[in-house]
Amino acid sequence: MTSIRLNGAFRDAVADITLAVAQDPNLVALVMRWNEDDTLLWTLNSLPNGQNTVPGGGAAHAEEALIANWDVYVEQNDGQEPDTVEILLTKSPCLDRSPERQMDGSVWPKGCSSKLRQLVLAKPANDWRIGFLAYYQEDIRIDAQAYGAIAEFAGITKADVYLWADRHKG
Ligand SMILES: [Zn+2]
Repeated sequence: MTSIRLNGAFRDAVADITLAVAQDPNLVALVMRWNEDDTLLWTLNSLPNGQNTVPGGGAAHAEEALIANWDVYVEQNDGQEPDTVEILLTKSPCLDRSPERQMDGSVWPKGCSSKLRQLVLAKPANDWRIGFLAYYQEDIRIDAQAYGAIAEFAGITKADVYLWADRHKG
């Protein structure tokens, strides 16, 4: 298991999304960093109805925006796919709340956990560290939804998906 290294600009970006989410309960956000390089760092928010980042319309979850933008990030990395991907989410990926989408020439299944799983398996990066600050719908949590989404990553050795508080104290 390799945990996210919460340092430098990555730490600052996580502090920013934590504050933003505290002020807007409808917002879900994530920070992604590639290759532990703070110049390859992106913050993504969930997007309201009317967004046009994610094909197919409607509201979009932050994970979907990440997938829709992936090729742009590759361009920013001189056309190279990353080796290491760190993602810190304010909430765990949903099991089935986001719809099936057509993005980047592929069909992506409903649910952000399934979409992220497909991304992990499709990309060459061999070290994925995915942390989340709270379970999706923690207040009215349906355990099968919350834990089922995380269970989708079981057996994928290149992905380490965990609740932040389980590893990082204080
Ligand atoms: Zn989702």
